[in-house]
Amino acid sequence: MTKRSISVLSSLLLMTAACGGSGSDEPVSTAVAYEGATVITGDGGPPLGGGVIVVDDGVITDVGLAANVTIPEGATVIDLTGKTVMPTLLDLHGHVGFVDGMSFDSANYTREVITDQLDRYAYHGVGVIVSLGTDPGELAFEIKADQEAGTQGGARLHTAFRGIARPDAGPGAPTMRPTALGASTEEEARAAVREIAATDADFLKIWVDDRGGSVEKLGSNLYRPIIEEAHANDIRVIAHIFYAEDARELVEAGVDGFAHLARDVEMDDELVAAIVENDVFVMPNLAVSERARNASPPAWVDLPQLAESQSAEVIDRIRQSYEDRSEEAAAEGSESFAMMLRSLKKLADAGATLVLGADTGIQDHIQGYMEHYELELIVESGISPAKAIEIATSAPAAVLGANTGLLAAGNRADFIVLNSNPMYGIGNTRDIESVYLSGEAVDREGLRARWGN
Ligand SMILES: [Zn+2]
Repeated sequence: MTKRSISVLSSLLLMTAACGGSGSDEPVSTAVAYEGATVITGDGGPPLGGGVIVVDDGVITDVGLAANVTIPEGATVIDLTGKTVMPTLLDLHGHVGFVDGMSFDSANYTREVITDQLDRYAYHGVGVIVSLGTDPGELAFEIKADQEAGTQGGARLHTAFRGIARPDAGPGAPTMRPTALGASTEEEARAAVREIAATDADFLKIWVDDRGGSVEKLGSNLYRPIIEEAHANDIRVIAHIFYAEDARELVEAGVDGFAHLARDVEMDDELVAAIVENDVFVMPNLAVSERARNASPPAWVDLPQLAESQSAEVIDRIRQSYEDRSEEAAAEGSESFAMMLRSLKKLADAGATLVLGADTGIQDHIQGYMEHYELELIVESGISPAKAIEIATSAPAAVLGANTGLLAAGNRADFIVLNSNPMYGIGNTRDIESVYLSGEAVDREGLRARWGN
């Protein structure tokens, strides 16, 4: 060996040592290990006491009991002893771009308003929101693409673009109604499906409801070809329903999901069995209906977490919306709501696929916050907290086909650090210390400052 080749070799060795990090200031690992917490993975099973989650480059690389997880050498270790970790929530039914403070109007459908709403979802621990059928243009797709490219933060936005209803018979709120495509004939219905399927929409939404006889209901003569055409174009159909009889016919027609429970009667065993057999997923959507059983503002209006993302003015209006309600009307609402809870428990017991759908983003139905109340109501039906969390995390992730919602290797590091354990009270999912999306902590303090709270 010549002198020269020795010196080349030694400088190579030096370089290797420097890159390897031993004895240098360079970090040796980009991995972060979160240890000591009670870990709820989202699979519906019992939590892991003293679990470890290893995250690298925004992705979970390992999760399990401390004894089963090897923390990479040089990883940053964060001690979460006393905390509980669970996945961020996925809500498959929301509406973006209508609420802005005290205003509820289609004029609010701007990038600025929508991205602020995605921050509100993220603040409260919702990692994915599906805007269900009320996105009039390309904006939702643009925001979604920016999030995929990593240039836009907040809860990940998915969209069903515009849904289909009879003309002027879609969403309940008048300001949202024009977003639906109207169809009166089979030809129009099929054309509308093709228009939606040509986009990057995750689902196709239809409204099958006569709004108490005030509008014309999309009938089976139209929704059958819609479902057929949608499936031929590789897109799944989610139906807004009110009546159990429509649910029955929609299952028969091949619908993929329901955005509500039946609200006219209790869902009978036959309907429940058909839903399970045809693997139709169901979003209970309880909290909007639950309003009717209250003659005075419910307890959630006064919880401190609501005031973290909402102004006093907005909270005051919510409180006022419960004024002038009679005890009689509340008793009636209470009976009707109890019926919905019985339907939900039946579906759960029969093994139906249940997924969170909270309908947030309509007026006074607070984005990111009401998802937690939805969980409380799911548990009120008799479903366990572990199962309720699965309904809000891994179950909707599986339906959406998103690599989140379950704390498992290979998934996005989307999780919430809680100060108290929701297994001992599902309301504890609100008791958030921090939220991580793709391994990055959401700047909750900064957001509160921006909102003036
Ligand atoms: Zn809705």
